[in-house]
Amino acid sequence: MKRVGVIGGGQLAWMMADAAQKLGVELVVQTPSEHDPAVSIAKETVFAPVDDASATEILAQKCDVITFENEFVNLQALSVLAQQGVCFRPSLEALAPLLDKYHQRCYLRDLGLPVPQFFALDEVENLQLQIEYVGFPVVLKARRHGYDGQGTFIIQDFATLEQKLSDESITKPLNQSFFLLEEFVPFERELAVIAARSLEGEIVTYPVVETQQEQQVCRRVIAPADITPNQVAEIQAIAHTLLNSLQVVGIFGIELFLGANGKVMVNEIAPRTHNSGHFSIDACETSQFEQHLRAVCGLPLGNPALQCAGAVMVNLLGYENSHSDYQSHRQQIAEIPQAHLHWYGKIESRPGRKLGHVTVLLDNKNRESASAIAHTIESIWYPS
Ligand code: ADP
Repeated sequence: MKRVGVIGGGQLAWMMADAAQKLGVELVVQTPSEHDPAVSIAKETVFAPVDDASATEILAQKCDVITFENEFVNLQALSVLAQQGVCFRPSLEALAPLLDKYHQRCYLRDLGLPVPQFFALDEVENLQLQIEYVGFPVVLKARRHGYDGQGTFIIQDFATLEQKLSDESITKPLNQSFFLLEEFVPFERELAVIAARSLEGEIVTYPVVETQQEQQVCRRVIAPADITPNQVAEIQAIAHTLLNSLQVVGIFGIELFLGANGKVMVNEIAPRTHNSGHFSIDACETSQFEQHLRAVCGLPLGNPALQCAGAVMVNLLGYENSHSDYQSHRQQIAEIPQAHLHWYGKIESRPGRKLGHVTVLLDNKNRESASAIAHTIESIWYPS
């Protein structure tokens, strides 16, 4: 039996449980807190932060292969383990160009993939000049450790930018020289695709989805996205280029912008399972979690196709500080026909925290009916 070590014990690791059981794989998790979602499903847990490489050394002794549900790791420290023969999938080389958003943009641009105009904010003296180049609004991003819009700021004018950069509460933890500035893309829609690559180099892509963000946090996902076959083909080609170039083994999530002119640009790469692929648990023949474990364990990939006409996934985000388990809200949502509710079992709710999600299977590809169902779910979940 294969034992898979997972760095990170949040909901992404937790959702690997069913697939692990199906494939006869045991999960060993490295995560800091006993309250983290995946602790309950792990065969064993190494309690340590995800960037603690000495804990990963212990993890390595308990498993055959190590994968990631969280990429905020210390690659340099992990590379010592890789040199000693520890097997990471995807490899550390595949992660290396992606962990810093500036390096990631450079990597994608050098591969010839379409990305927004960007530059590193390392010389504040050149700021005015650089801004003139892209024009306001601009997007200021922390180069590292950003997620769910944390560390992403849409800035309308120079005064606000200077103010942000001099705001110690923002620049201190993030460090001013570790910012990226990029053009604001006036996208018509945001899209995403999940792609998997096997040990043998086989690639499969999931249906391209539409993602809807509010305050930079994903609220809903509609599968499949209502886009042209050419756009689908272009996005699939981007996924192939990227995964082949990095020799990925495992799943990657690719976030994209679709411009009003129909042009596609890559926004961000997640080198792991991704929120935009959660619909696959209930809607696809092979979930992204099973697919990831298949790739990581050297198994052939499964069929990623939808088993229904469409699906809509709604994140259940915290909207208050509370210890409630929201029993009655969950009950009401679960009663919606064709709804599959996934509750991550977090003991504490905070505004914006992902507490669970619900996927509703659809018998049509109608964007309006998907939106109407999302609206129903949100009107049950969020206080009016
Ligand atoms: P995170 O890593 O926190 O998810 P992202 O870079 O994906 O950060 O940004 C989160 C959201 O912010 C995106 O989904 C999009 O809605 C918005 N956003 C990010 N970059 C841009 C951009 N250059 N132009 C317009 N909107 C953007």
